[in-house]
Amino acid sequence: MKTVRLPDGETVPALGQGTWHMGERGRERKREVEAVRRGIDLGLTLIDTAEMYGDGGAERIVGEAIAGQRDECFLVSKVYPFNASRKGVVRHCEQSLERLGTDRLDLYLLHWRGDASLADAMAGFGDLVEAGKIRHYGVSNLDVADLEDLWQVPGGAGIATNQLLYHLGERGIEVEILPWLAARGVPVMAYSPLGQGRLLREPGLRDFAERHGMSPAQAALARLVAHGDVIAIPKSSDPERLAENRAAAEIELTEAQIAELDTLFPAPTSASPLRML
Ligand code: NDP
Repeated sequence: MKTVRLPDGETVPALGQGTWHMGERGRERKREVEAVRRGIDLGLTLIDTAEMYGDGGAERIVGEAIAGQRDECFLVSKVYPFNASRKGVVRHCEQSLERLGTDRLDLYLLHWRGDASLADAMAGFGDLVEAGKIRHYGVSNLDVADLEDLWQVPGGAGIATNQLLYHLGERGIEVEILPWLAARGVPVMAYSPLGQGRLLREPGLRDFAERHGMSPAQAALARLVAHGDVIAIPKSSDPERLAENRAAAEIELTEAQIAELDTLFPAPTSASPLRML
């Protein structure tokens, strides 16, 4: 598995698994737990979840899946901005830990800025690090103006990642945010790296994949991972798709293949407002 360096030097897998929409339907529960376990067996040990997903249901699915193998995993969860007061961050993290059946998160993110006070959220994260309840903290859906505000706040420059919407059909972050973070050694975590599945229906991507002997999902993921400082977290509840996605981390795209994908899916040349789901 390819890895990405966090600012403190720790390395994490470049490909993980997402869990949005898991834990929403009781009848899917068993299948979803099995999917997350299958992902872990395949090496997709970085698992992204949030208190928001399934109203805590996704964290419960993950908790069941990691039971007995928690130490093999790198667990990421997120706090709603409206829960991110200094004390709220601590309380909501403890609730996430309870649902996940563990005593610590590897990474805890502010889900989006909303009306949160960045100073309070960072203070709460600091309290959690001190208590050993989280190992790293970070943010999600913050644009450059937000990041500049964050850098003014105690602890703000200590983020391990900014989790952002990023896939071949949505390359806006390459104009400003990605270089801003790269200059500070902060990797991006790419969410919806398959464009929620829609990207995979693009004729250009399908044609590229067929000609180069890979699937559209593998081409999309391999292009993101080729950056070296991007972690991608595709979600699948299907065992075969999980294996297909996992194999993307072993694909070394040639410079010509990267150039071809970049021509098919060009990055914009000027900045536009950050898109988020
Ligand atoms: P993805 O881009 O990961 O796409 C997921 C969809 O693609 C699902 O419908 C899945 O279906 C399908 N799929 C997965 N693999 C394949 C494949 N190989 N071939 C065909 N279809 C496939 O979208 P998500 O929005 O789920 O993003 C990934 C994760 O990022 C989320 O689960 C969540 O953890 C995180 N996220 C974070 C956000 C934030 O604000 N911070 C916002 C959105 C997402 P199936 O399961 O049936 O295989």
